[in-house]
Amino acid sequence: MLISLCQTLLVYVPLLWFVTDGMPDPAQRDSLIRQEASRQTGGRVILTAAEQKLDSYLHRLKEQEMSAAPFPPAIHFFKAKPLIQTSSVFKLLQKMPKGAALHIHSSSLVSAEWLVKNVTYRPHCYICFTWDNSVRFLFSDRQPFPRWDCFYWQLLQTLRAKMGDLVAFDNSLMQRLTLFTEDPDGEYPSQDVVWEKFEKAFIAAAGLITHAPVLRDYYYKGLDELHHDNVLYLELRSGLSRTYELDGTIHDKVWALKTFQEVTKKFTGDHPDFLGARIIISVHRALTVSEVKAAIKEAIQLQKDFPDVVAGFDMVGREDSGGTLWFFREALSLPAELGVTLPYFFHAGETDDDGSNVDQNILDALLFNTTRIGHGFALAHHPLAKELSRKRNVAVELCPISNQVLKLVSDLRNHPAAVLMSEGHPMVISSDDPSLFGTTGLSYDFYQAFVGIGGLKANLGTLKELAVNSIRSELINFISFMSMFSCSVLTETLNTPHITLRIHFY
Ligand SMILES: [Zn+2]
Repeated sequence: MLISLCQTLLVYVPLLWFVTDGMPDPAQRDSLIRQEASRQTGGRVILTAAEQKLDSYLHRLKEQEMSAAPFPPAIHFFKAKPLIQTSSVFKLLQKMPKGAALHIHSSSLVSAEWLVKNVTYRPHCYICFTWDNSVRFLFSDRQPFPRWDCFYWQLLQTLRAKMGDLVAFDNSLMQRLTLFTEDPDGEYPSQDVVWEKFEKAFIAAAGLITHAPVLRDYYYKGLDELHHDNVLYLELRSGLSRTYELDGTIHDKVWALKTFQEVTKKFTGDHPDFLGARIIISVHRALTVSEVKAAIKEAIQLQKDFPDVVAGFDMVGREDSGGTLWFFREALSLPAELGVTLPYFFHAGETDDDGSNVDQNILDALLFNTTRIGHGFALAHHPLAKELSRKRNVAVELCPISNQVLKLVSDLRNHPAAVLMSEGHPMVISSDDPSLFGTTGLSYDFYQAFVGIGGLKANLGTLKELAVNSIRSELINFISFMSMFSCSVLTETLNTPHITLRIHFY
């Protein structure tokens, strides 16, 4: 009690000192503005002279973009995307080293365009159109049997041979694998409607991705898309679905992990500047407590067998309609009871249902010692949880485009992470389900966080801290590699070849 009183006095008394009658002292006012700015994400990052020059340039670009109409972060991403693509700030962000992608789901890692234009053109690919305007795919060396959801399978090669307009056909397939629409507000009037389409798109893609030969290429392509966007490391949430061969042979989770391990090794061999990738084993929150218990037991074993591949465990699916973390408390306590460590990376607070049981996931995630918080959209409403996560340096995985498309917020300037950023709360930026939202890499989400959520006050220091945050916590083992890392970016644009954006690692 005495300690907290002292702390309060220490924080507030110096501030009250400034409050006087009459005209405030301009020097004191400037000092307060500087103090406040120093608290934001990146507020204490010291920029070199060259970086300060770059920062001023970025600031001018931001001012121009923020005064133009329409302002991309204020409108739906599906309408904003072409505007962002022409943005000078975005083009700089693309060139920037962005650290690690720590919140991406395996079923939506690779662009739908690649799935349609590459994977569906492979031999033995069958398609079936379902009654609810979705599709299923299946690779098979013979005509597939009818299933409850799919009565009539057609060989895509044969179907395409009969088609007049292949471009339109391929576009229609892509639309079924993403959430994209030209009228997002009309087509998705509520969270329920957009989540329904979201789940459908996942199911539609499953038959393509879980075909064993495709999965290898899929992982490689996913790493390639991230690397192309200057991302250095990936932690992928995956349920390790069973995969199948052309003759119907089924592979288990061990096979999926081995494949991921092999592909990652090959990719880092081909691209030595890419640091690696790990899996966060994920199960759906629609499961029962005993099913989750079994999944956790299995995850403990898999982590023991693949310590370099398995990072930990998470529960996925829509929080508002699935079991809460407290509902699964018996299962989630299992590692501690067994005396083993299974790091948790919980989705928590991906909700605007303030005060509900689901809303308590934020606190429960921290009580179960989560390593990071997926989304944490609700965190700003939980002062105690916010304090806890800050003290323990539990970073929020901010996925702005996901939150907007899934209808938690429409104008990203109103995203609650604006408060977290202004307080310098530990945070990383990620893309959640890039293929479903029509993004690749992290640059689009960085743009929305940097320009929309961070506003004019977010600066080059903010970008550096966001990138460093993503690697500092999870890649401690890679520090020796990282000390060698620097990236010369923005030189062409600025036409000042001596300017580099260098990230220092502590
Ligand atoms: Zn997610």
